[in-house]
Amino acid sequence: MRIGIPAETRPGETRVAATPETVKKLAASHAVIVQSGAGIAASIPDAAYLAAGATIGTAIEAFACDLVLKVRAPSADERAQIRPGTVVIGMLNPFDADNTAAMAAQGLTAFALEAAPRITRAQSLDVLSSQANIAGYKAVMLAANTYQRFMPMLMTAAGTVKAARVLIMGVGVAGLQAIATAKRLGAVIEASDVRPPVKEQVESLGAKFIDVPYLTDEEREIAQGVGGYARPMPAAWLARQAELVHARAAQADIIITTALIPGRRAPVLISEDTVKAMKPGSVIVDMAVEQGGNCPLSELGKTVTKHGVHIIGEANLACLVAADASALYARNVLDFLKLIIDPAGQLAIPADDEIIAATLLCHGGATLRKAA
Ligand code: NAD
Repeated sequence: MRIGIPAETRPGETRVAATPETVKKLAASHAVIVQSGAGIAASIPDAAYLAAGATIGTAIEAFACDLVLKVRAPSADERAQIRPGTVVIGMLNPFDADNTAAMAAQGLTAFALEAAPRITRAQSLDVLSSQANIAGYKAVMLAANTYQRFMPMLMTAAGTVKAARVLIMGVGVAGLQAIATAKRLGAVIEASDVRPPVKEQVESLGAKFIDVPYLTDEEREIAQGVGGYARPMPAAWLARQAELVHARAAQADIIITTALIPGRRAPVLISEDTVKAMKPGSVIVDMAVEQGGNCPLSELGKTVTKHGVHIIGEANLACLVAADASALYARNVLDFLKLIIDPAGQLAIPADDEIIAATLLCHGGATLRKAA
């Protein structure tokens, strides 16, 4: 088979869908065509791909393959270069119905890796986890860089410096890594989430869990989430959470928000009144900014200072760690390919496989997965 790796064209996208490590494995039984410069933003020169067994080509050559490996969904311009019947794999955004319809109309077979189910067998190909892990780390790095004080407690001849107090809102993959990273830097950490099992995970990392009691069976049931994901909590629970968070935020030096509900606007967790109550020079990193933000004052792609608080709205933090983000993403892609390529090196899509059913957006001209 011919496998193409085009350069990503979306503004700010620095990652690439294959690295020399994964190309070497693919090139053992396939012809791999990497677009010249595809790895540059992730510090991977063409020569490294060549050495791994790839051919360096143009975008047209990379798109004219049987299998095209992408990070982001192809734009209309990119789609125009893909032939009917091509298999496209990437973070293709299953919630973008228009793009899915366009890919179906073009006769593409498209897999959205971020739609893989959260099951044990899918862990090694879970792009949401690999990228959220990196983003959680980078969020703390950005916060530490903007924060004008130390993170750890220091005892010096000139006096003692207090440890920074960090509040993490939403403790999925990104939040857990943010806790671990802030902990390594010596901060004192508190965290909040809606899902009950998170308490134990937070405490095992040495952070304090902000307990918002569930007062009704309905609240307890909704808090369980679905498939590991959160569901929107009732207003009464959110109001109790907001009250507790307001008090904790006033004490915090850094807040990292990661709270998401799949396919919906992110919940508002840090209101303008809460920002006003924070100390001057405090930092908020709103990791949910692309989904509307957990703080209404955050601005997509910008760092703004409001009421003396620096609010970082950097989108797609994983792109700021391009080399490792690409390395992990490329391994996820390689693991996914094992599901659809048989031992003879031929495409064999097992339609009844749970992971395939969840990720296959379109095939043979038909849209197979609902957009919501
Ligand atoms: P996510 O990115 O969808 O959301 C981030 C966090 O925000 C979640 O923990 C969610 O509960 C929380 N949240 C939502 N509303 C909130 C609110 N009002 N207040 C506070 N927090 C709120 O989550 P994720 O990182 O994708 O992880 C979701 C779950 O899936 C986790 O339990 C994770 O461990 C699990 N997971 C399982 C697998 C697997 O088994 N293969 C792989 C990855 C993740």
